[in-house]
Amino acid sequence: MTISSIPKSPSDRSEVQNSNLYSLIEVRARQRATCPALILPDGHALSYAALLDQVGRIARLLKERGVEPGDRIMVQAQKSPEKLALYLATLKVGAIFVPLNSAYTAGEIDYFRNDAEPALFVGDPIAFAAEAAGCEPLEETTPRNGTDLAALIYTSGTTGRSKGAMLSHGALAANALALIDVWAFTAEDVLLHALPIFHAHGLFIAAHCSLLTGSPMLWLSRFEEDTVLKALPKATVMMGVPTFYTRLLADERFTKEAASHVRLFISGSAPLLESTFVAFEERTGHRILERYGMSEAMVIASNPLKGMRTPGSVGYPMPGMDLRIAGEGTGGIEIRGPSLFSGYWRMPEKTTEEFTADGFFITGDVGRTDPDGRLWISGRSKDLIISGGYNVYPKEIELVLDEVPGVIESAVIGVLHPDFGEAVVAVLVGTADPESILSAARRHLAAFKIPKKILFRDELPRNAMGKVQKVALRSDYADLFA
Ligand code: AMP
Repeated sequence: MTISSIPKSPSDRSEVQNSNLYSLIEVRARQRATCPALILPDGHALSYAALLDQVGRIARLLKERGVEPGDRIMVQAQKSPEKLALYLATLKVGAIFVPLNSAYTAGEIDYFRNDAEPALFVGDPIAFAAEAAGCEPLEETTPRNGTDLAALIYTSGTTGRSKGAMLSHGALAANALALIDVWAFTAEDVLLHALPIFHAHGLFIAAHCSLLTGSPMLWLSRFEEDTVLKALPKATVMMGVPTFYTRLLADERFTKEAASHVRLFISGSAPLLESTFVAFEERTGHRILERYGMSEAMVIASNPLKGMRTPGSVGYPMPGMDLRIAGEGTGGIEIRGPSLFSGYWRMPEKTTEEFTADGFFITGDVGRTDPDGRLWISGRSKDLIISGGYNVYPKEIELVLDEVPGVIESAVIGVLHPDFGEAVVAVLVGTADPESILSAARRHLAAFKIPKKILFRDELPRNAMGKVQKVALRSDYADLFA
């Protein structure tokens, strides 16, 4: 079965009655009824027929609980097949899925409950599915327009209130179908899925590629070397955050042989270090395909499947994605396209602020495009350091520091300074002598970019998606020059 049989554009959706994303998934799942949808580490598999049946029963229970189209269903729970089924059932009844990071505290959850006003909060999808097992499967999938909302994803929000990015059925479908095309996903693929599903990466980008091709996922509750190494020989594609790849490289059992069945390793959600890219290729012969995305737009740019995958670059804009850089050279990345979110939940002013007059979303990331059209990201605009009146992009300095022998990784931040306004501070992991670090920096960088202080830590603070938490670093060292 080839992917060309999947309805791609609205005009080609004759077999689908409406633009509910679940209708697309259902069509494919019915065609692939006897194939496994989820394969668990213990070998137990859930077929597409079984998944459809479970989704139907959960959808019925949602209806019995009074859930109406447009209602929010909030979920905070560990990853499980039942949680995925609950997501799909939410789509089926036309409600809006609101997954929360499992790390949130009770106080944070209160904020989200007050903001999203969910009709239902599910803390235990396994128990919910067990109760639904006694229900008759619901047949009808609630018709939706492409612009109707499918999910609200709260962005990590480094400052101020966390914002709910509103994602429509149309945006999710557009990105999923484009990814299937550019990464040549087919029914023959087997995806190693070790990502959390409270985030766009695991829930949409990864799972939709499998669900819309009717292919199986090796469903791991989290990234854990032993289970990943056991699953790899059955996988054809792995999607991960950069930390997955550094952790694999740190494990001697991860050899060329162990990676040989996989056709494609994909990395996203945080920058992939060039050293990881190089070490991975040396070890396995595979060039990791790095792509760039965010909750507000899913995947924005991707290195090519065929053609040059360039370390340090996130590749070319996705088909249909208009991407431009504000100003000359390096500047803010702005995007417009079918996978873009519909705004921030109940924050019309914030939404207006983050769009340009001609409808481009201001991503908050800073970068440049090269003459070939490849995108290079220099960091977040919030991370920009202004030292003595000069703009300093942390990424440029980090790239130099990472090359110094003994430095494993680095994070460059701006810290309040009486003379400079902000001073450049480098936080390093590794064992290198500060003098050799400074002399490397002086060879490559203008004087105003040279770190005023070099600090060492055992590791950089990261969130569940592998992103370095610069806000935490800035607060740890806020008084350095006081
Ligand atoms: P989130 O909405 O949590 O997925 O976070 C999105 C942010 O992660 C983006 O705005 C980027 O700052 C960052 N990000 C995602 N992928 C990459 C990548 N490949 N390289 C650099 N930064 C990335």
